[in-house]
Amino acid sequence: MALLPILEFPDPRLRTRAVPVTAERIADSGFQTLLDDMFQTMYDAPGIGLAASQVDVHERFMVIDVSEEKNAPQVFINPEIVAKAGEQVYQEGCLSVPGIFADVTRADAITVRFLGRTGAAQELQVDGLLAVCIQHEMDHLEGKLFVDYLSPLKREMVKKKLAKAKRNAA
Ligand code: ZN
Repeated sequence: MALLPILEFPDPRLRTRAVPVTAERIADSGFQTLLDDMFQTMYDAPGIGLAASQVDVHERFMVIDVSEEKNAPQVFINPEIVAKAGEQVYQEGCLSVPGIFADVTRADAITVRFLGRTGAAQELQVDGLLAVCIQHEMDHLEGKLFVDYLSPLKREMVKKKLAKAKRNAA
């Protein structure tokens, strides 16, 4: 397994719209290794979700583990939200926007259809943090980031803050 580099805002590659994953791709051992690497990268960061887009792979899948014990890895391939209900506000962060947190309003409960890591079709009804995380990661697959929900002024401040942090780290 290996740690993968994570793209950071405002890297234009994060704006790429991902394409569906094919059955052949899921059957490929390289794809399964990539999933393992993504979990390792996410746990190491540490984070609770990582979309393929964030490691510069522009295909529709993501890995998630919202458990306290970090023992409930979930793979979502070609996810599709088929129902949503209610609203919740959660202070989100993102491995591609390090050190920045902001309130985002999303659906409280969702029904999501997807393929699991072996390609089996699944449907889940979830709410709370897992629902937030799935919606956040699915945004990545569309080339969208949580800072897009902020005002243009706030987004500009985030950009400057990250650029400054990068300069200080160099
Ligand atoms: Zn993110």
